[in-house]
Amino acid sequence: MSHYIFYNRLEDLIDELDFIFGDHGDGYHTVYALPISTTRQRAEFISEETMKVVTAFMLGDQVHCCHILGGKTLLSGDTPLDSDHDERKACFDSLYDTIKVWLKLRKLRVREAMVAMPKDLVGVNGWANFLHYDKETNRFTFGGQPLCQEEGCDNEGQACYLPDDYEDEPSCWYCPEHMHAQGFCPGCHTFWGGVEAFDFSSVDLCPNCTDQIESELDDDYDEIQDTYMDFDVETHSS
Ligand SMILES: [Zn+2]
Ligand SMILES: [Zn+2]
Repeated sequence: MSHYIFYNRLEDLIDELDFIFGDHGDGYHTVYALPISTTRQRAEFISEETMKVVTAFMLGDQVHCCHILGGKTLLSGDTPLDSDHDERKACFDSLYDTIKVWLKLRKLRVREAMVAMPKDLVGVNGWANFLHYDKETNRFTFGGQPLCQEEGCDNEGQACYLPDDYEDEPSCWYCPEHMHAQGFCPGCHTFWGGVEAFDFSSVDLCPNCTDQIESELDDDYDEIQDTYMDFDVETHSS
C-alpha cells in the first residue's frame, strides 16, 4: 500500500526531492509530470471535467506529489458546455508547458507519466509560485524569474542564449555573477565561451558589448559637455 503525500506548493515538492537526493545524485533525478483530466457526474446528464497537472516522485512506497488545477468544464454527455473549449485546452497546455520547462531548468529528468492513484483518494490541489496567469492572453507563463542554474546559487537567473536558440527559448538561466564563468556574456547574454577576447576580457564582456560601452562612455562625456554649456547659457539668459 502506497502512501501519498500531497504538497501545496510545487517548489516545496522539488525542495524535498533536493533534500532527499542531495544534488539529485548523478545530476539528474526523475520526476513524473502529466496533464490529466478526470470527470465526475454532477447531475443526470451533466458531468464535470477537471484538468490538472500532476507532478510526482517516488521514494520507496511513498508517492510525493503536487496537483495543480488547470481548469474545469461542464459536459453534457461528451459535449463541453463552455463556449470556447479549444481556448481552454490551449490555456491548460500552457500551464503544463510552463511547469515542464521549470522542472527541466531545475535539472530534473521529466517523464511524461504518472503514478496510478486509488480512485477514491481525495487529493489536495496545490500551486506553484513561479506560475503567472496572464488574463489578456489566457495563458500561463513564468511569473518570477527561474533561479540561476549555478549549483547553490539562489540569485534570480536571466535568460542565456546559445547561437541556435530562439528569442523565446533560452538554453539556460544564470545570474550576472555566474554568466561569464559559464561562457555567457553578462551584457548580451549570448555564448562567447572559448573566444579569447571574451575569456580573458578585463571587464568580463564580449567584444561587441565592450565596444558599445566604450562608445556610450564617449557619448556620456559629450553629453556632460553639452549640459554644462546649456547650463551656462541658461544662467546668463535668466
Ligand atoms: Zn548565480
Ligand atoms: Zn555581449
